[in-house]
Amino acid sequence: AIETKIPVQSRELWNKHKVQKFNTSEEFEEKFISHVEWTLARSLYNCDDLAAYQATSQSVRDNLVIDWNKTQQRQTVRGGKRVYYLSLEFLMGRALDNALINMRTDTSAQDVGKTDQVLTKGNTSREMIRQAMKDLGFKLEDILEQEPDAALGNGGLGRLAACFVDSLATGNFPAWGYGLRYQYGIFAQKIINGYQVETPDYWLNFSNPWEIERAEIQVPINFYGYVDRTNGEQSTLAPSDWIGGERVLAMAHDMPIPGFKTSTVNNLRLWNAKPTTEFDFSKFNSGDYKNSVEQQQRAESITAVLYPNDNFEQGKELRLKQQYFWCAASLHDIVRRFKKNGRPWSEFPDAIAIQLNDTHPTLAIVELQRILVDLEKLDWHLAWDIVIKTFAYTNHTVMQEALEKWPVGLLGHLLPRHLEIIFDINWFFLQNVEKKFPHDMELLSRVSIIEDASSDRQVRMAFLAIIGSHKVNGVAELHSDLIKTTIFQDFVKIYGANKFTNVTNGITPRRWLKQANPKLAQLISETINDPNDDYLLDMSKLTELSKYAEDAGFQKKWNDVKQFNKLRLADLIKRLNGGVDVIDREHIRNTLFDIQVKRIHEYKRQQLNIFGVIHRYLEMKEMLQSGGSIEEVANRYPRKVSIFGGKSAPGYYMAKLIIKLVNSVAEVVNNDAEIQDLLKVYFIPDYNVSKAEIITPASDLSEHISTAGTEASGTSNMKFVMNGGLIIGTVDGANVEITREIGEDNIFLFGNLSENVDELRYNHQFHNPELPKPLKRVLDTVESGAFSPQNHHEFKPLTDSIKYHGDYYLVSDDFESYIATQDLVDEVYHKNKKEWLKKSILSVANVGFFSSDRCIEEYAETIWNAEPVKPE
Ligand code: PLP
Repeated sequence: AIETKIPVQSRELWNKHKVQKFNTSEEFEEKFISHVEWTLARSLYNCDDLAAYQATSQSVRDNLVIDWNKTQQRQTVRGGKRVYYLSLEFLMGRALDNALINMRTDTSAQDVGKTDQVLTKGNTSREMIRQAMKDLGFKLEDILEQEPDAALGNGGLGRLAACFVDSLATGNFPAWGYGLRYQYGIFAQKIINGYQVETPDYWLNFSNPWEIERAEIQVPINFYGYVDRTNGEQSTLAPSDWIGGERVLAMAHDMPIPGFKTSTVNNLRLWNAKPTTEFDFSKFNSGDYKNSVEQQQRAESITAVLYPNDNFEQGKELRLKQQYFWCAASLHDIVRRFKKNGRPWSEFPDAIAIQLNDTHPTLAIVELQRILVDLEKLDWHLAWDIVIKTFAYTNHTVMQEALEKWPVGLLGHLLPRHLEIIFDINWFFLQNVEKKFPHDMELLSRVSIIEDASSDRQVRMAFLAIIGSHKVNGVAELHSDLIKTTIFQDFVKIYGANKFTNVTNGITPRRWLKQANPKLAQLISETINDPNDDYLLDMSKLTELSKYAEDAGFQKKWNDVKQFNKLRLADLIKRLNGGVDVIDREHIRNTLFDIQVKRIHEYKRQQLNIFGVIHRYLEMKEMLQSGGSIEEVANRYPRKVSIFGGKSAPGYYMAKLIIKLVNSVAEVVNNDAEIQDLLKVYFIPDYNVSKAEIITPASDLSEHISTAGTEASGTSNMKFVMNGGLIIGTVDGANVEITREIGEDNIFLFGNLSENVDELRYNHQFHNPELPKPLKRVLDTVESGAFSPQNHHEFKPLTDSIKYHGDYYLVSDDFESYIATQDLVDEVYHKNKKEWLKKSILSVANVGFFSSDRCIEEYAETIWNAEPVKPE
């Protein structure tokens, strides 16, 4: 039984007045109006779309909260193992539409009638609400547009966490996400004169109906100060007192996470920093009132802003503060919940699994050790055993610049006791290594948590994460193999290969198919005769589609859905382009939509893509100049629109220059009347999750063209395939498994393999790469100022990096095979549309492996040893 303060005799009253979910449109309408009047203090006379969005969300949230409470009670009563997913980023996007798709209304016997019709349509609440909104005088689509994205992440890593919490709830796992409630998410990107300009994303402006403020859950978090050992203890291994010098409070904000076709509603707990009410009297007494207030105000800065770097670590003190603040608050919460059960500490790892999304939460390892040793007075080794069994770590990159390291001085200043603990962890670890591999000083220095570079010593967070975890996983097969042979090679020698495993990333088909592409979802459910959308839980059902891959009638329907989605994107682009059309709608059926949307990064090689576009343009011009007709040109280079999108880190010079180049090329190409709209280029500003939901379903082709060995997995590649887009890609990340699953005939692969990258790079160091002719012409054109007439040198850093600075990302090595493969794409798309559609259908038929439900099952089975807790 669960504890309660309510006396037995009062409980009947509670049960009598139990809150009810809305189950019918009428009940929803009543709820809606009461929220308009009571929650928003508005009325029939001043309820606009924003108010309607808020009242709808509040009403839906009420339903979720009822299931949320039941879920938490059920999970407590059953006492299964709990999973905690620690991620500094959750790129959730919008919540309302997703809740409408996932939410279950109850159909108890007496409700059957009104809701039953709706339920059997397979789209439980969404259709019902759409109709109700219409009756109330609103259009659901307009209401949904009112919601700002919860953009608390940079890219793939944050979106992965968002897909995982969806799948955890759907799979009925007792699992919470823990993160930070940034007041400013990832910046909004404006394009001004072709340049990226960052503006703050104050997403909480109109308050957030999806969060439940838990004012009663406030965890004190300390920083700075010193370690007190005046109790006579000399050893750092013994319980020690850390006297913090600065204190802030972590306040919980909860977001309900509904599973699909289940009443399980899990929790995403985000922490917000607040000043303590304690006052610094020494400052006050010395008359420094202003300063003591300022110090308090500083507390809030901890959760003010998300660091806008993707795959790059900057090493700023405030970032480390964020990390500790979040780890300490989350662990305090986890430990408190565990202690309520009165189970012995040795059972902690049987009750709890904590997954670290990258190294950002590595301090959680140290914090748990501190809690167990300093506060709970456990023996160091017993404590450490518990820690290792509890944690598992997901690695997301092999790139040096993305591996987290913290200067020993900085860490020791902010967290003096934690630094001691890290030194002790390292000491025991190195002792064990020395025992196993005696006299190998080189090895010891290579694997030490403390990197002893000549100038300053640094804490290598990835090594600490490996040492403090029982499992380490990469995020795609190739990547998981690579970590074992490169950055973590020594650790494989030390621990054996079994500590290292792979869980290939996935995406939730609820958001990325059902929600983003309702037309395709409908065609699928009709075709495979699955009116209740069960395929969204069992994606192997999609293989049924293979039967129709060459069926002309089905191909036409399939193509019609794609045209609809392309028009939807054309509309978005027109709106973003100030109402001016970029894409010729008349020819949209024969226009290949070639899309690359993702963070802008040299390793992702948007520069390769835009150089390819320039090459195409130059070829077209040359054909015309040498007397070719526009028909001949169109025959060789059929209609195409090249769409780019993505944010650059604000301080990433080269990435920003790539954005400018894309926009400058667009300016020239789009205004060249001679080529008659056969080629268009467009950069979509402010790429985010809600835009991705429009962009992804519209692709004919998408580009995943990273230098082999650099992209750990990629997840947008999976999203495009799930929406019937084909891929042009390198043999990198999850492209490898996509190829295996959908078949090599259905993907356009090109470029050097990861095993050749080192050698190619090595050679470039000694002699500048020999540029293939077409690339040389492209670079010469760029340098001639063709795209930057005001400043011929504008793009020189981009061309120089290839010509003179070692071409680290191997653009010159892959260029020819890239354009040859693009030629092949044109040929199939324009000369053999049937073949193209067949490939598209077969891709979707075989994409099932990439559902994040599969990932979660793998994590649960091979890493967490956790079981679902299903509602009755
Ligand atoms: N950014 C956003 C807004 C996304 O929705 C996604 C989707 O996966 C990504 C970034 C990651 O893209 P990629 O896997 O291509 O890096």
